[in-house]
Amino acid sequence: MATFSVWRGRGGRSVGTRSDIALRFDAAQAVVISSAEELAAMSPGFLHSVSKQFNVDLLAARLCPVLLMDQSVAIFALAEHVGSDQADELARQIIKSGYAPANPARYVLAAPLLLAIARQQITAQSLSSQPGVRLTQSKTALADAFQDLVEWGVRNGASDLHLNVCLREPVSQVKYSLSGRYVAPERFRGMPTSMLVDMLSVAWMDIVGGNGAVFDPMLEQQGSMTRLVDGRDIMLRWASLASDNGPSVCLRLLERETSARLPSLSELGYLDDQVELIKRVMLSEGGAVIFAGTVGSGKSTTLASLIAGIPSHRKVITIEDPVEYLIPHAIQNTVARNLDVAAHQNYAAKLRALKRSAMSDVLLGEIRDEETGRAFMDLAGSGVNIYTTVHAASALLVPERLASDFIGVSRDFLAMPGLLKLLVFQALLPVLCADCALPAHSLYDSSRHAGLGFRTEKQWRVWLGLIHEMFGYPIEGFRVRNLAGCASCARPHLADLNGYAGRTVVAEAIEPELWPEFLQGIRQGDMQACLDSQSPWDPAYSNEMTVSRSALDCAVLKASQGLIDPCDIELRFHAFETERRLRELRPVRRPAVQRHRIVT
Ligand SMILES: [Zn+2]
Repeated sequence: MATFSVWRGRGGRSVGTRSDIALRFDAAQAVVISSAEELAAMSPGFLHSVSKQFNVDLLAARLCPVLLMDQSVAIFALAEHVGSDQADELARQIIKSGYAPANPARYVLAAPLLLAIARQQITAQSLSSQPGVRLTQSKTALADAFQDLVEWGVRNGASDLHLNVCLREPVSQVKYSLSGRYVAPERFRGMPTSMLVDMLSVAWMDIVGGNGAVFDPMLEQQGSMTRLVDGRDIMLRWASLASDNGPSVCLRLLERETSARLPSLSELGYLDDQVELIKRVMLSEGGAVIFAGTVGSGKSTTLASLIAGIPSHRKVITIEDPVEYLIPHAIQNTVARNLDVAAHQNYAAKLRALKRSAMSDVLLGEIRDEETGRAFMDLAGSGVNIYTTVHAASALLVPERLASDFIGVSRDFLAMPGLLKLLVFQALLPVLCADCALPAHSLYDSSRHAGLGFRTEKQWRVWLGLIHEMFGYPIEGFRVRNLAGCASCARPHLADLNGYAGRTVVAEAIEPELWPEFLQGIRQGDMQACLDSQSPWDPAYSNEMTVSRSALDCAVLKASQGLIDPCDIELRFHAFETERRLRELRPVRRPAVQRHRIVT
């Protein structure tokens, strides 16, 4: 058995010896086999795949050595791989192992046919009886298995489906993001690696706007497709990572239903004063509203909800990669931005057209590099209302992110009065099941909290005391998760989610114009001054509007109402003890903005 690794030779051709050069192949000489019938008719006749013998199983979706009836070995490949370094290397190994190279030596096949051959689903035997039917059946079976994975995710409210292929292991991982947790349902445990790779290869064939004609385990690939689940259009956004263990494919599941009503800001979890602030800021013309948060923090949903609320007498245009939610009245544009030159030209052309569209409001999907940074400056500078998202760890850090070398928006531009209209940071935290959440003091009973055994009863008492001391809420209102769950929250085989019922937004919002030290800090690149001018939110003023309430403050407020487990707040932000130490570091100042009592 040959044990060479065909994974090498990825970075261009190596300089070969004279005999190597003789093996090089002109791709134009390859013979095309376009159906199972043509395969059955080829001469010399096809016997079966020998990819196992040559240890190239992992390349099966692209390249496959096959034994012919005259005992010679031919190479079956996808068109773009038939003349590759890997195919040349395989040709060398065929000779080295004592086989005669077939004549013609290489054939071009379509992906499904190649896959079926490599997986021994098509052999000389099966070809003699209805080859086309068998191929269709195996392809359909894989497509059905993939659909099953998608359906399970959609029906259980998953935000993402993760397919982690472990090429060196017989089985691979199928996981979902459910209520913000990364879980592996029983049902899909032990998925055979080869089946998962085949399934991904078949699924990729339906990708729109993707890079690459076939699924390539060694490439980062992106694209999207739609699937119908229970009569609903679900968009799958595909992003694969070529990890050391094999391809890790993440599929974001997005419902694309025009009739599906977008949740309001309050329904998402924004507090009344935050909703009021956002609505007030939206009234003025021009400037940017920027949402920050981590991946999966729901900022696109919030943005879509906000845009959907813009009155119809305003012209709203979106540029997204891809469009995630269908927003009534908005003119939406998917602009895929990958690494190829054409995509960049397409993006630039779209922007030029956009500027001539006389719109009043623009949603710019995400600012994540110089190209989108320039687009942001261009649009925000033209006086339209712009809504966008960035990855940043707090609202305060949004301007820093935009001014970073990576994005390169100028500080003077950001500090222009009225330009940054509103900065919002949001995170999603699990909501406790109202039917079974336990009072906070049940933390003292260690037998009920096997998973939280890192604190003793005494330490839990100190911990709750610390929360009370820092935030001022009576501890009686706090509740914690019931790990056992109850009839209304427990799901079969998903004990990870027991005691939870959905998620809620915790957010912070800054109106930079009302915070002169902040604008000054942006201009001078001195964030310390901004941080110093921020004083901890004082719950004694909980009925008052303030700019200085952080997302963590917001989370603790919800925890005091028994909605969120305080343990989850620590997991999402940091330990309360860390918060105490951070507060000690901060100089005590007056709040940056005069607190206004809300007249009710
Ligand atoms: Zn429950």
